[in-house]
Amino acid sequence: MNDLKPILPDGIEMPHPLIIAGPCSAETEEQVMNTARELARNGIKIFRAGIWKPRTKPGGFEGIGVEGLEWLKRVKAETGMLTATEVATRQHVEAALNAGVDILWIGARTSANPFAMQEIADSLAAAKVDIPVLVKNPVNPDLELWIGALQRIYNAGIRRIGAIHRGFSSYGKHLYRNLPQWHIPIELRRRMPNLPIICDPSHIGGKRELVAPLSQQALDMGFDGLIIESHCDPDCAWSDKAQQVTPDVLNFILNTLVLRDSTV
Ligand code: PEP
Ligand code: MN
Repeated sequence: MNDLKPILPDGIEMPHPLIIAGPCSAETEEQVMNTARELARNGIKIFRAGIWKPRTKPGGFEGIGVEGLEWLKRVKAETGMLTATEVATRQHVEAALNAGVDILWIGARTSANPFAMQEIADSLAAAKVDIPVLVKNPVNPDLELWIGALQRIYNAGIRRIGAIHRGFSSYGKHLYRNLPQWHIPIELRRRMPNLPIICDPSHIGGKRELVAPLSQQALDMGFDGLIIESHCDPDCAWSDKAQQVTPDVLNFILNTLVLRDSTV
């Protein structure tokens, strides 16, 4: 994988760190637009929102579905931000590409499944696109499975590839929702030095208070960017409410982060 291109499309400068922000889930048009407007006002350039939500247990909010793609179109048209959403099936890929979503990401429950990864890769190859694709680490701490998921996307012809470190599931109660196990993304960096790695402090920490310190740790370790969940009214969020921050809190956090010489 030594002919990767920058994650962002040609003509768009790759900032350091790359910042992606937005709600865990697209819930209503109003929530999406309010959040997007506040983020754009604070200078955020890439908006994330989950349209299809793979939930661990049945009975939770499983995403608004294709209706939300229209809201992402509106975000792009009104704010100029690029949009990003999660895909887990061929149908998701096709719908997201048709709707003009700019960046796709693959979630931690999907990157753990080679058949699902291959289905996504095949649908990208069939579409002959070079859309940026970000691959979250599998829920389990298996570096080879993560690399295999990245390779499937590469083999589909995608060259704008990034990895997202979102921590790893473990049994029992811990400070972190998903253990960072920093040595795993650091080993990924050693094995694939030209692959951008973005940290997801929201899903690692699972709590608002941990977003700032985890973000700083990631930057200190030389991560290329951050993907952070931000919601206009976090306490009322339909998913992951404990870890989402308002756009203004996000702005405060980003302004406190220090860029030092990285060690990785
Ligand atoms: C998400 O980004 O909202 C999400 C579902 O994350 P993960 O796949 O990392 O659990
Ligand atoms: Mn989430």
